[in-house]
Amino acid sequence: RMANVGFIGLGVMGAPMALNILKGGHSLSVFDLNPDAVQRLVEAGATACASPKEVGAASEIVVTMLPEPQHVHGAILGKDGVAEGLREGGIVIEMSTIDPQTSQTIGDDLRKRGMNLVDSPVGKTSEHAVTGTLTLMIGGEPDAITKVEPILDCMGNEKYYCGGPGMGHAMKITNNVLATTIMVANTEALALGLKCGLTLEMMQQVMRNTMAWNSQFSTAMPKKGFVGDDSPGFAIRLAAKDVRLACELEEKIGIEPRIGRAGLAALQAAIDAGYGDRDTARLMFMLEEKLGV
Ligand code: NAD
Repeated sequence: RMANVGFIGLGVMGAPMALNILKGGHSLSVFDLNPDAVQRLVEAGATACASPKEVGAASEIVVTMLPEPQHVHGAILGKDGVAEGLREGGIVIEMSTIDPQTSQTIGDDLRKRGMNLVDSPVGKTSEHAVTGTLTLMIGGEPDAITKVEPILDCMGNEKYYCGGPGMGHAMKITNNVLATTIMVANTEALALGLKCGLTLEMMQQVMRNTMAWNSQFSTAMPKKGFVGDDSPGFAIRLAAKDVRLACELEEKIGIEPRIGRAGLAALQAAIDAGYGDRDTARLMFMLEEKLGV
């Protein structure tokens, strides 16, 4: 069955995800603070809305794909938010990378209004957003998940049911603090090798069969950092946000975020140098420039 779907947050990830919902034959109402991003979706067949509330009023299911927890909270529960427009029985699919507590708080509020929230943050890259092959980390009430499944299938081809409300976001934050700190560790070690006079090719050849090998090194970095591309991709400001959320959660839980803090410091240095909107590949270039390699 075709559904009336809403989409809020048409950025690097959200725009191609929204296009894939349109391609799935659903009708789509969209909102973003950036009018150019809205225009591109309208040209593809979506209807522009003036607020998240309007998106809610036009939809049975609303997807949010926004940068940070406060943006998600504001768009759903704030003034002129989705919750003011959505009818009873409506479901929000929250797909941004946010902390599980914010996710659970928003979900509890929506359930009191007879609505629901399914969390389904996404893994892999913007290329997978384009091809509809994202990894979906799903949390929420089983009935609500079943109802939104056809929409999720437009965007991803790998679904993991992580548990109740917020558990998808718990999975995603856990994934990203590890993926991001591994990336930071790679840049530091590779810069060391380069400065000693080794080539990237030599390091790749040798480390392919050692415990140092990881998929940031084998797959992600060769496509971006190693070929001089720091267009986002995955922006440094978003990577820093994920590690910061993980560190905050670790501290609450009683884990000392030693590695997380070190990763965050490297990302913050890049933000302070004006590179927050560039891809995380920029960390590698910064070290190379500094070392003259
Ligand atoms: P982005 O910055 O490219 O896009 C965010 C969009 O939201 C922009 O178009 C912006 O104008 C819009 N926006 C911001 N605040 C808004 C508001 N209050 N109301 C309406 N629109 C608003 O970010 P992205 O790369 O698409 O990432 C979105 C989320 O997905 C983030 O939480 C990110 O961490 C996560 N994520 C990103 C990747 C990636 O590779 N880029 C992968 C997985 C998950």
